[in-house]
Amino acid sequence: MKKIIYPGTFDPITNGHLDIAERASKLFDELIFVVANNPDKDQLFSVEERMEMISKSTDHLTNIKVESTKMLTVDFAKDNSALAIIRGLRHVSDFEFEFQMAMMNYHLAPKLTTIFMMPSEKYVHLNSTVIKDIAKLEGDISDYVPDYVLEQLQLKLNN
Ligand code: ADP
Repeated sequence: MKKIIYPGTFDPITNGHLDIAERASKLFDELIFVVANNPDKDQLFSVEERMEMISKSTDHLTNIKVESTKMLTVDFAKDNSALAIIRGLRHVSDFEFEFQMAMMNYHLAPKLTTIFMMPSEKYVHLNSTVIKDIAKLEGDISDYVPDYVLEQLQLKLNN
């Protein structure tokens, strides 16, 4: 059973995240989304809400699980017998941070591989922060998030 983990904040999941998950899930037996449970970071959605949005947005995929953790990513991977970490790379500006993280993870867990994948061109400029900023100003983000996420964003921002 070849498992891969996809760690991130996912506040909320976007079609860019989904693009990566769809590609990666075809290459492995199971992909586990690992939602960071980091109380120090200021998030719009709770961990439970973020997990629910991922589950609802991936119900067309059969080999996806959604978990959350407060652990180091490498420790979560070891505990779940994952072979690799998948990360998305959008711009050169992602590279420096991702490279540093991958090298540190190789130091902490030499056998765990980090795999980078690029999303379809239409999602390259997308991140969760931009989505939230546009949604707050009532801009149209329907091309960039799953329908359920769009509803949840509207509900959250109208409250
Ligand atoms: P972000 O706030 O950048 O969306 P996350 O922590 O939620 O950050 O991202 C988790 C992983 O998904 C990271 O590897 C990030 O580079 C990747 N990712 C985020 N948005 C996209 C996108 N539009 N296309 C491809 N990968 C993405």
